[in-house]
Amino acid sequence: MKFDILTLFPELIKFYSNYSILKKAQKEKKIEIITYNFRDFTADKYRTVDDRPFGGGRGMILKIEPIFKTIASLKIPNSKFYSLIGKSNFQQSPKKTKIILFTPRGKKFTQKIAHQFSQLERLVLICGRYEGIDERVVKYIADEQISIGNYVLMGGELPALVVMEAVTRLLPGVIGKSEFLFKRISKTKGFIEHPQYTRPEIFEPLKTLTEIGFKLKRVKKNIKWRVPKILLSGNHQQIKKWREKHQKIII
Ligand code: SAM
Repeated sequence: MKFDILTLFPELIKFYSNYSILKKAQKEKKIEIITYNFRDFTADKYRTVDDRPFGGGRGMILKIEPIFKTIASLKIPNSKFYSLIGKSNFQQSPKKTKIILFTPRGKKFTQKIAHQFSQLERLVLICGRYEGIDERVVKYIADEQISIGNYVLMGGELPALVVMEAVTRLLPGVIGKSEFLFKRISKTKGFIEHPQYTRPEIFEPLKTLTEIGFKLKRVKKNIKWRVPKILLSGNHQQIKKWREKHQKIII
């Protein structure tokens, strides 16, 4: 799967993508991440990417031209570009490509959307900055607007990394037992998570605090944080029941 990221800060994307699953998936050629600074697609001496909003108001708005030129020069075959300039200009079909614009006004990103995106061949992610992006990018270029939550960030780079990571871990072969992971995901129901524990069976918080130098005056009797007994029982049927009782469906 190919990710094209349009951003004014490619280094932010490159830094995070150089760790953990994104690094591994790139190394194993499961994904390709290419960043484009749309400032490189400006024509003026100052490499201007923003301007004041029509109608007045605070802040600066990202202009349509540099974003349009970046996407056009990459020949990204999403359906809007396809119908604008004709299929002879493209090698790929638009069906397998989506252009996503990040905005707090967009559709909330969920596991279900991550699953849908993981079926594509190419995902183009446009990271906004400042007061946002000229609305014509929404209307004439982007296929979807995505928000990662009800809060406002400074830019679309964190959302792009969130989407890339959530999608990459769903690609076949990226996480060890991906077939198992795949089975858990149903397009409509999302997937099921239950609480997990690991060693030690008993954790003693006050003892640990003392060990790391805390001087505790009124120490209560030995407090112990325990793993639910059932998980230690070895009774797989009971464990399954317990997990089902405590599971949460993530859509
Ligand atoms: N008023 C602007 C708007 O509605 O788009 C807010 C702009 S915000 C300061 C700058 C950029 O950060 C946005 O254009 C968007 O790309 C990104 N952004 C901020 N919060 C986001 C969120 N919750 N989800 C997705 N993108 C977000």
